[in-house]
Amino acid sequence: MPELPEVETTRRGLATIMPGHVLKQFVIYEPRMRWPVPADMSQKISGCKVLACERRGKYLLINFDHGTQIIHLGMSGSLRRVPLDEPLRKHDHAEWLFDHARFLLHDPRRFGAILWHDAAAGPLAEHPLLAKLGIEPFDPLFTPEYLHRHLQGKTQAIKQALLAGQVVVGVGNIYASESLFRARINPRTAAGTLSLERCRRLAAAIQQTLGDALESGGSTLRDYVNATGQPGAYFTLHASVYEKAGQPCNVCATPIRRIVQGQRTTYYCPKCQRR
Ligand SMILES: [Zn+2]
Repeated sequence: MPELPEVETTRRGLATIMPGHVLKQFVIYEPRMRWPVPADMSQKISGCKVLACERRGKYLLINFDHGTQIIHLGMSGSLRRVPLDEPLRKHDHAEWLFDHARFLLHDPRRFGAILWHDAAAGPLAEHPLLAKLGIEPFDPLFTPEYLHRHLQGKTQAIKQALLAGQVVVGVGNIYASESLFRARINPRTAAGTLSLERCRRLAAAIQQTLGDALESGGSTLRDYVNATGQPGAYFTLHASVYEKAGQPCNVCATPIRRIVQGQRTTYYCPKCQRR
């Protein structure tokens, strides 16, 4: 599943190519995504200039002066640059055509989304999909104190509190296991019981883990291709615990353990990450 580093890598790719250019044509080949792609989307944005390519959580935001296209890559999506003459493949659902470049949204499982937020409808941050998102992990306001304050009163396990995305966005399944290992926190610890000191380690671990993945152009998806058409490096190659069940911990050599929390797998070192 594309996680925050993949989405941010895609955004950076788009941001070097789209802004300042007129989108000649936007074409929908398959409107049946997680939610139907609005039928008038092509009319709305074809012939309009892209102002910026931004991101909030795992939503890509393509800004025009009259509104914003909100794109989610779902479970299996990629938005990549392709040669102008490349034939469509199966599962190519939408196309952004510029004079100098062309992009295709490819999504075999169709859990992705392409929606429109009209500028006249109010601030983008109040869009229902964006309004409840937690803080960005690289926002200067995301501090140990912030994390500690927002975990207060939560009885759910810290792993699940991270995945929920309402405290901080972008810590998906891989990054939650890796960050908790780095912070030496047991994934089953009740979120509200973490001390400020442990929140300090966790906040730093989240930023380091996501930062490392971004630096490697990270990807978790086998067929993931970034926005400029280059295959991403696989973050899992650098994982310490994720998908390492039974293998020795790289700190203490204890076998890594696999458990299931809320139907998602978690990996941790039972010795380094005591409760
Ligand atoms: Zn260990």
